[in-house]
Amino acid sequence: MNASLTILGSNSALPAHGRHPSAQLLIIGKNHILIDCGEGTQFQFNKYRLSKMKVSHIFISHLHGDHVFGLPGFLTSLILLSRTEPIIIIGPVGIKRMMEQIFEATSAHFTYEIDFIETDTEKSSIILDNENFTVENIPLKHKIPCNGYLFREKPRQKNIRPEIIEKYGLNPVQIISLKNNEKIQMDKGELTPEEALYIKHTPKSYAYCSDTSYLPGLSELIQDIDLLYHEATYLKDFTIKAAERGHSTASQAAQLAKDANVKKLLIGHPSSKYADVQPLVDESLEIFSNTEFAFEGKTFEL
Ligand SMILES: [Zn+2]
Ligand SMILES: [Zn+2]
Repeated sequence: MNASLTILGSNSALPAHGRHPSAQLLIIGKNHILIDCGEGTQFQFNKYRLSKMKVSHIFISHLHGDHVFGLPGFLTSLILLSRTEPIIIIGPVGIKRMMEQIFEATSAHFTYEIDFIETDTEKSSIILDNENFTVENIPLKHKIPCNGYLFREKPRQKNIRPEIIEKYGLNPVQIISLKNNEKIQMDKGELTPEEALYIKHTPKSYAYCSDTSYLPGLSELIQDIDLLYHEATYLKDFTIKAAERGHSTASQAAQLAKDANVKKLLIGHPSSKYADVQPLVDESLEIFSNTEFAFEGKTFEL
């Protein structure tokens, strides 16, 4: 299964310097997952020729406008596109009420079902578990209830090594037994699943952490993951102000990536005071070498 992440918006509160507020599209196999939906998200789908109709799940980190103001427009456009497939929206407590009040005030008549799942932003738990992936929420520290999300692809079924099938001339019944983790008796001893099976594909993992003050303890939750997106609103000369405002610095994002031993770090959500984001990247690179800025329109393979 392929997994990729496309950045649609990665600026902080104000749209500025050609950058949009937060939104990302995570694709895991056939699942198209929208993460946050800042103002203008549907225009970004059009710009990058992505399909709004394929979105099956929408995860919202918190109810600040730069993460959610694009959602009413996105959802009502799906009505005009005659969507009938249900959609799942996951977000902190209050998202259902917020959206229903907007739908009522604007007389929106839906052609499809919306299932809301509201999260407890104080504690981590598995909030979604389907055949392809699981999602755990990550409690974050911000001005209002906020959580990140940890997506983990599920391991796929193991395959039999082709050379083993040939060597032993395995029949379909024997192959099924091995795939069910059972030993099989051969003329010269037994053949074990460990010897015969292999995993073609390593399941990928991705964590989205925005918005938040620096939380060193997060590193335990996201240990060894493939890709981490962490906000880096400020440079380290604003460390105190960042904490007061419920945000992090580029150094703090990098320190977390290092402590969690993640493979790659994407930073985003820069304050609009930074027209050029390179100083944020440079600061992060001093601590964690595999850092990139989450530029809009860029796709990262997991
Ligand atoms: Zn924000
Ligand atoms: Zn916020």
